[in-house]
Amino acid sequence: HETVYSIASGKGGVGKTTTTVNLGTALAQAGKRVAIVDVDLGMANLAGFVSLTPDSTTLHDVLADNASVEDATYRLAENIVAVPSGIGLDEYAETSPEGLREVVSELRSTYDYVLLDVGAGISHETVLPLGLADAVVLVSTPEPAAIQDSRKTIELTARAGGTVAGLVLTRTHPGSDISHPDLADRLDLQLLETIPEDSAARESVYAGTPLVAYEPNGPAATAYRHLAAELAGIE
Ligand code: ADP
Ligand code: MG
Repeated sequence: HETVYSIASGKGGVGKTTTTVNLGTALAQAGKRVAIVDVDLGMANLAGFVSLTPDSTTLHDVLADNASVEDATYRLAENIVAVPSGIGLDEYAETSPEGLREVVSELRSTYDYVLLDVGAGISHETVLPLGLADAVVLVSTPEPAAIQDSRKTIELTARAGGTVAGLVLTRTHPGSDISHPDLADRLDLQLLETIPEDSAARESVYAGTPLVAYEPNGPAATAYRHLAAELAGIE
């Protein structure tokens, strides 16, 4: 079955990192061993969930051939580790995304699930992980601009030789004008899950705790557990 997922989007700020962290934590809570990897090399955000100092080893050091994957692996909670990216601009300049292939294959052999938090947009470092993963989880809000940009990510995934598993619609509001299954249909994708707008999402970031641990019974956390159960076939 599929074990390496790229969590991707066309537009930025739609909930990729939130999805990576919470899907990963929900899978870990279900007993799966999970690694989440910040492959958004230019705009790393997973670092917020790990206590990094400026000297800490990150994915940048691994890609620059200065460290092993284990050196850049940090335990988040039971069953889940993170491989964060560095947050400095200089580090970014020295890395080459090509080494990601090896990082992913190493993690694949160690963990039940590997989730890649991919950068938005259409740059090389965004496209590469789309082809490396077994499947892409496309994240979008219901807004027309985000849906439009999703089309580009679908096309880029095909060009990179990857497969899109389906769509996760985030930050949805009840009673919006377009039905969510219709939106997925328009993109020719299966609707994997709908994650409602939930103020706990923002609060959990400031608390440095995944939503599914911070407010486990809230609407977004519940939806992320459904998504995990669906992907892992444990429903
Ligand atoms: P991306 O990684 O795609 O840039 P993020 O996961 O960082 O997106 O989310 C962007 C912003 O949206 C963050 O401030 C996050 O807290 C907020 N957010 C994400 N999902 C939800 C949600 N379901 N409800 C409310 N806010 C959310
Ligand atoms: Mg992000």
